[in-house]
Amino acid sequence: MYFIDALLPIPLQQAFTYHVSEEQAHLLEIGMRVAIPFGKTKIYTGIVIKVHKDPPPAYETKSIDQILDNAPLVNLFQLKHWQWIASYYMCTMGEVMRAALPNAFLLESETIIALVSKEPRDDTKFSDDEFLVYEALLHQSSLHINDIRSILDRKNVVLVIQKLLEQGIIEVQEEIYEKYTPKLKRYIKLSVEFTSEEKLKELIETLTRAPKQRQVLMTLFMLSVQDKKPVESLFLQQKSEVTASVIKTLIDKGILEAYFIQKDRIEYTGDAASEIKALSEDQEIAFNEIKDSFKTKDITLLHGVTSSGKTEVYVQLIKELISEGKQILYMLPEIALTTQLIGRLQKYFGESISVYHSKYSVNERVEVWKNVLENKQKAQIVIGARSSLFLPFNNLGLIIVDEEHETTFKQYNPAPRYHARDSAIVLAKLHGTKILMGSATPSLESFINSKEGKYGLVTLNKRYGNVLMPEIELVDIKEKHRKKQMKDHFSDRLLEEIQEALDNKEQVILFQNRRGYSPVVECSTCGVSPQCPNCDVSLTYHQYKNQLRCHYCGHHMAMLISCMACHSDTLDTKGFGTEQIEVELKELFPEYSIARMDQDTMRKKHAYAKIIEALEEQKIDILVGTQMLAKGLDFRNISLVGVLNADNLLNFPDFRAHERSFQLLQQVSGRAGRTKKRGKVLIQTFNPYHQILQQVSINDYKGMFEQQLEERHQYNYPPHFRTIKITFKDRNYAKMQKGALWYTQALKMNLTENVLGPEAPSVGRVRNLFITHVLIKIPKGQSLTKTKLFMNKVDRSFKLIKEFSSIRTIIDVDNY
Ligand code: ADP
Ligand code: ZN
Ligand code: ZN
Repeated sequence: MYFIDALLPIPLQQAFTYHVSEEQAHLLEIGMRVAIPFGKTKIYTGIVIKVHKDPPPAYETKSIDQILDNAPLVNLFQLKHWQWIASYYMCTMGEVMRAALPNAFLLESETIIALVSKEPRDDTKFSDDEFLVYEALLHQSSLHINDIRSILDRKNVVLVIQKLLEQGIIEVQEEIYEKYTPKLKRYIKLSVEFTSEEKLKELIETLTRAPKQRQVLMTLFMLSVQDKKPVESLFLQQKSEVTASVIKTLIDKGILEAYFIQKDRIEYTGDAASEIKALSEDQEIAFNEIKDSFKTKDITLLHGVTSSGKTEVYVQLIKELISEGKQILYMLPEIALTTQLIGRLQKYFGESISVYHSKYSVNERVEVWKNVLENKQKAQIVIGARSSLFLPFNNLGLIIVDEEHETTFKQYNPAPRYHARDSAIVLAKLHGTKILMGSATPSLESFINSKEGKYGLVTLNKRYGNVLMPEIELVDIKEKHRKKQMKDHFSDRLLEEIQEALDNKEQVILFQNRRGYSPVVECSTCGVSPQCPNCDVSLTYHQYKNQLRCHYCGHHMAMLISCMACHSDTLDTKGFGTEQIEVELKELFPEYSIARMDQDTMRKKHAYAKIIEALEEQKIDILVGTQMLAKGLDFRNISLVGVLNADNLLNFPDFRAHERSFQLLQQVSGRAGRTKKRGKVLIQTFNPYHQILQQVSINDYKGMFEQQLEERHQYNYPPHFRTIKITFKDRNYAKMQKGALWYTQALKMNLTENVLGPEAPSVGRVRNLFITHVLIKIPKGQSLTKTKLFMNKVDRSFKLIKEFSSIRTIIDVDNY
């Protein structure tokens, strides 16, 4: 008997053993996919991790359904890396597998259910859950299990479905399908009987009465003389200046044949590669220092001020490595950034660049995966957001993590809750390659590591072309309010500067860290704000749609005319978001073009690209946005950056709030004056003497670093301690509270005073689930492995307590 162990994309700790025939055993290799039955009706895609002859002692094995690959789709580097992620971030291999593979590779049976009939039913007998499913199906013809999971907001929905099935309300279909459909391109060739030159000439003679058809054949003849490349149907049509019907006629006559070749979707159509820019003297020094540093250190941090030309330094490194045929992974924190970078790098490296991130379609991701797997030239340089880390690299030469301080590198939900920068460090180690991290405002973690000599450190202090760092002015809006020098949310200073920039035909970026029109609507008679029914937050007013929306669960309703509590029509808006700023600007500067960049306006795949292009082409005079526009974008003509209110950043209840405020403000400031003329930054605040703002205004990273480090030390926070956060969620508040307390006490048995909480977060209920947090702090000397083992023990015991079985626990290692 032969067996395989397979990983399944489900959150279970162990791999499963299946039996296979001898023939299959010989075909199978580690990393190949198999379709395997699971439970009664499920079919999953598994990854083979072992082929062997040892029957499992505990259960009767099933056989696999089918082998899905001819060659491994996942390599050994990846399996080891997944293993590390699962154990470090305390999740299962199955969860990592699901995050790592594009959906299209996870061929699985998706249960689809539909109503047996749309006839009205007596729905009074339904339980709440049954009613929700029934109601959803009245509006949509069919639903997947996963849809039902999100409708009911829990995992275990089978029983509900079972009940509805038994009552004959719904029916279930099982269906397997490959989600990936390669895009095919149509090509044209001559039928075999006409392929000889004489036959073709003869044929062309006979077509004198059909000049268009003749034209097509002449073109085809000419093209085939030039080279033997396949001729695309569309190309042939355009070259011969005929319509598609002419080609169709020739096919119908049996003279031409159409055939199809699979084409990759992401094609570079730009100009030929241009010369790489020569490095400035400072850049050259930094470049050499990086290479020196790599002789002794695997990890190097490039601390270079905004617009110092870090990208150009990366480009030089990449250039050296690709000539050796190595693969390069270039990670960015935000998809928005890839747009501009692709353009920049394609000029240098042409077709060798692939892009990989979650906004790419499943098909596009499958193609990049395969190209990386096969070490194709067109995927030699991969630019991507955090998931690009999971690609099947096998000849990795360098990893670049740009804007390494960005918190978006950490995946928040679902598991694996991994930090892409830290996971990249491990990936580089597995491959025995170097990793370069770059930032103008390094994270405290990375900076302390380089100060302590764990990482190499290379510094670029000057902007490229010796442009001065922008001049930063703090505007005290408390005083401005008092002196009545505010118009809407703008101080007279900010308005003056905007006007001046516009007069000079320069562009302006305005930063407001909140989307929507106005965060809170409040009744000025009774003080009540409309609340989300599912979450403990006030609804946000969006003027454009005249709606109130919840930013946590998406709940929305039409804006109220009068207060729900006292019925007076005295609803007032408090606070402000990007949308309101945009509206005010349009009134203040009616002649100028104003655009907005935030989550609401950027939902579509190409939305970023469009705004960035419009900004580059100077079709936008003023851009208003959230932190999205803070990161790494490089524009030529922005002379002024305004921050409308720095205080809500600083007052955010989180131990990283000050570090983050510094980074964010420095980064937004960094968008100003990147060429020749010195840029200007105006930061409006109620508290201009705040230390962080003072440090921002004089560009004092070191001062910020020392001070924050000291504060973290006092309160036992990273980088001195590691943290693990456990979140508890339940519909029932008392139960959640009791469970969390039990868990905390169990943890304290061993970890004593380093367990904090349970403590309710500022939003204590989301989507009707009550939430509380417990934080574990792990001092430097304490073994991480042992701590996690202990935690796992507690977690297992907790899950055995029946009373707590509905409570969801979420473990987040190195939480952000
Ligand atoms: P950073 O990534 O450090 O913010 P960039 O790499 O975006 O900086 O560089 C800022 C600007 O300066 C870019 O427009 C870039 O093209 C230009 N630049 C940087 N280095 C050079 C160079 N060596 N030669 C010409 N232009 C450069
Ligand atoms: Zn009221
Ligand atoms: Zn809500």
